[in-house]
Amino acid sequence: MPKLVIIGLDGVSPWLIKELLAQEKIPTIKKVIDHGLFATLKSVTPPVSIPAWLSLVSGKNPGELGCFTLFSKKGYDKTIRPVHNFVPFWEGLDVKCGIMNIPGTYPVKPLNGFMMSGLFTPTGASDFLYPAELKKEIELELKDFAFSVSWNNDDDFLRRIFHLSELRFSIATKLYLKQKPDLFMLVETNTDSLLHNMIKYIDHSSPLYSSNKYEEKIYDYFAYLDSLIGSFLKVVGEDVEVMIVSDHGFTSLHGTFALNKWLEDQGFLAVHGRSKGPQKVLSFFGINKTSVEKILSTLHLKKLVYSRFRGSGLGDLIPDANGISWYTAIRQGMIDFKKTKAFSAIDQGFIYINDDSEEQGSVTKEEYHHVREEVIESLRKIKIPGGELVIRKKEELFHGPFIEDAPDLVVFDRSFHHWPITAVRCPQLFNKVTEGKIKSGDHHSDGILISSQKSLGKEEYSLMDIHEIILRFFEEKNQTEKQVEKSDFDEKKGEQEVIQRLEDLGYLG
Ligand SMILES: [Zn+2]
Repeated sequence: MPKLVIIGLDGVSPWLIKELLAQEKIPTIKKVIDHGLFATLKSVTPPVSIPAWLSLVSGKNPGELGCFTLFSKKGYDKTIRPVHNFVPFWEGLDVKCGIMNIPGTYPVKPLNGFMMSGLFTPTGASDFLYPAELKKEIELELKDFAFSVSWNNDDDFLRRIFHLSELRFSIATKLYLKQKPDLFMLVETNTDSLLHNMIKYIDHSSPLYSSNKYEEKIYDYFAYLDSLIGSFLKVVGEDVEVMIVSDHGFTSLHGTFALNKWLEDQGFLAVHGRSKGPQKVLSFFGINKTSVEKILSTLHLKKLVYSRFRGSGLGDLIPDANGISWYTAIRQGMIDFKKTKAFSAIDQGFIYINDDSEEQGSVTKEEYHHVREEVIESLRKIKIPGGELVIRKKEELFHGPFIEDAPDLVVFDRSFHHWPITAVRCPQLFNKVTEGKIKSGDHHSDGILISSQKSLGKEEYSLMDIHEIILRFFEEKNQTEKQVEKSDFDEKKGEQEVIQRLEDLGYLG
């Protein structure tokens, strides 16, 4: 049986692969590209890891999965809802599979082969591995292994992801050798955390770009990852096809735009109480808590001023650039839903019409389409600095039984440099990304598909194509094997016929 190995590199973009190729950092991946294909893999909208990976392994649209982002809307609030209504390729194939660390696959279910869950496996969970007895094979690695790594500081973070990736591939090698699956898939998610936190050191277009020692270290991490993939492929052996995929790409974050501020300013969202006069004036001049803190820090006056004016109420007069979170606003009863026609919940550019299906809906079924068109018309006036707002209706993006749960509109910046947020009472619609914020990068729609398969030749694929490519790979191989068996049989049959004829003719005694 021919083998297929799929390596997922969460969040890796075509531009990053091109840069790594130019620097000659990834010889293993280069070998796969030279043999086959390097294409763009278009993610789902919005490009979020959980729906993206689940779409990739099932070939299903988020509307069929009932999973549009990490969170689901619950009333006007959000909740984490596990997704179980998907049939991944390992359930539809009659081949032995080894599946490791795909986000959203906790808890693991029995399959023909083995499985270790991935990102979002709860800390301390015991049911992350099937069959559970495999744990004894990887006891050593599990002592130190973690499904995710949080950022503490740059040095510590880099040290930990080097170590965690080493452990991940060590686990992969041990389990692979123990089980010898025909189809193996592993997802490395540390790449996503790395790019969220440290893209500013490698992307020259980032407003926070600064060339320093980390630039080289980040490229070294990808070189190390390439060497781990190379060593693993050596263990798998010769007769193997390789696919390297990502669930989405990455780009630098330039800023955010506050959708609920826009909706409030345009009269679609009603927030109790107006901004105080002095706050409005200060906002106009770009003065807010972040900028004041920055000035005080530069002048080394932060401590002194804070101790002198603490409790004076002065701080309340200075506007908060990041506004008040949507969830705080709901909990504090700041939103007048009876007067609200549209609102944004979940920081993925999700806009909901406050229709009859909502607890305090103000828009009737008959008014729904008209109100949605009004909101679209208004959103079209938003001019993103250096970007372009894309507005999509839910039926343009999703289909399937869960479309009712989808946001009525999804909006995003075409360049993905500006990320939509839900905070209310932001003094400004746009806020630039500032140093000190941990996140300097965010997801982009363009991921990668690298494959040794010569049968693939397009420049662009969709995440949803991968499921079909995997199924076809094994179907074609099975057919080829059957044909080989059949032609073997025919040859023998033919041989016997010849012998019989020769016997009949008396040539053979
Ligand atoms: Zn991801």
